[in-house]
Amino acid sequence: MKIGFFGVGHMGGPMAANLVKAGHDVTVFDLVPALLAAAVNDGVKAAESAADAVRGAEVVISMLPSAAAVRGLYVGEAGVLPHIDKNALIIDCSTIDADTAREVAGVAKQQGRVMIDAPVSGGVGGAKAGTLTFICGGPEAAIERARPVLDCMGAQVFRAGDSGAGQLAKICNNMLLAIHMIGTAEALQMGVDHGLDPAVLSDIMKASSGDNWSLDKYNPWPGVMENVPASKEYEGGFAVKLMNKDLGLALQAALSTQSATPMGNLAKSLYAAHGNHGYAEKDFSSIQKFFRHKKT
Ligand code: NAD
Repeated sequence: MKIGFFGVGHMGGPMAANLVKAGHDVTVFDLVPALLAAAVNDGVKAAESAADAVRGAEVVISMLPSAAAVRGLYVGEAGVLPHIDKNALIIDCSTIDADTAREVAGVAKQQGRVMIDAPVSGGVGGAKAGTLTFICGGPEAAIERARPVLDCMGAQVFRAGDSGAGQLAKICNNMLLAIHMIGTAEALQMGVDHGLDPAVLSDIMKASSGDNWSLDKYNPWPGVMENVPASKEYEGGFAVKLMNKDLGLALQAALSTQSATPMGNLAKSLYAAHGNHGYAEKDFSSIQKFFRHKKT
């Protein structure tokens, strides 16, 4: 298939590369020329403009940092929607608020174009390995149409509901992720403060009722697991600033329904403070440093 792809950052880069590996003809566009050049090494074609990237595309995919970027790309002053073929399927994989997802998909629909929201879970590791989980919102038929393309980049495709529902399910997940990452870091630090070995403590909690994804797949204590950001000075992975954005989206959603989210609120405050202390660009597991004790 001919695919136009926007945003080849930490996530979009490996996702586009996996589409090429699956035999698709992928043209990408990013605002950062160096990222475009790096993507070309993975076999994609680099577009000269956004309009150029969607020319003749049967599928258009975006993986952008914010709602403003998604709105700007599709419906802004130089919005690319009018350049997209009416039979093409538009898949936005960025994590943004559900209202913007519905608004942009609504504009596309008014113009006779189909757009779904399909934010992902699984991080950069999942993007590279092609094992992402896609959490989709939109018409069932459109999500079924997207499935073969999404299968090239992920292991699971869920339909959470209508337009915007993918975004809501995704931020519920990320609010929970932030909470259990903070809890994991807190427990590890307390154990170490009392002289426990963080690797042994991790094994014990993994085999006990404290087990969770942060402990099992993404241990925040440096050196406990190989190939996780904690063991690479918290480089790569999912930036604190992006976790902060997702927690903001979660709190915004909670406010609109008067849902009680005390743990989510606390997680947002802790991640905001952590980001402001110089960790905004570091992986979100660096919250471990927030709990650091003078002994360690
Ligand atoms: P990133 O900042 O590394 O990449 C985003 C890219 O989009 C950048 O290269 C940027 O230049 C580009 N961009 C911005 N506006 C553009 C435009 N108008 N046209 C073309 N390119 C444009 O971010 P990322 O870590 O890849 O995350 C992307 C999205 O995925 C975010 O919404 C994030 O919340 C979500 N996400 C990230 C992770 C993760 O672990 N990094 C995990 C799940 C979901």
